[in-house]
Amino acid sequence: MTYSYDDQNIFAKILRGEIPNNTVLETDHTLAFADIRPQAPTHVLVIPKGPYVTYDHFAAEASDAEIVDFNRTVARICADAGITPDTGARYISNAGPDGVQEVPHFHLHILAGRNMGRMVA
Ligand code: IMP
Repeated sequence: MTYSYDDQNIFAKILRGEIPNNTVLETDHTLAFADIRPQAPTHVLVIPKGPYVTYDHFAAEASDAEIVDFNRTVARICADAGITPDTGARYISNAGPDGVQEVPHFHLHILAGRNMGRMVA
């Protein structure tokens, strides 16, 4: 599978510092920031700094260091946000046209702080 990365997408601009963001956590390989249109009391977007379009693109082509860093960052955000087995959360990554992905830079939505309801297609 060949993916074509558009470096003019809004998250690429955030990573280059061209537009502001509300940073939650930043590491060598990963940036997490508040979603500009929050759908829940906690709504954080986690993105790799590398040019990956979708989750499967990231999973296939990112280095082990990037993948570990991404996942450990997710874990730290969840801990900091008070997400526990008792509260729960929803993790979403939209991909491509069928997934109705708005921004073509892989991102994980972390949604928490309310009951998210049953997921509908
Ligand atoms: P997608 O449909 O999964 O691609 O969702 C993209 C998300 O990015 C949406 O939830 C938007 O609210 C969010 N978003 C778009 N632009 C910005 C921004 O500049 N800062 C933070 N979040 C953004």
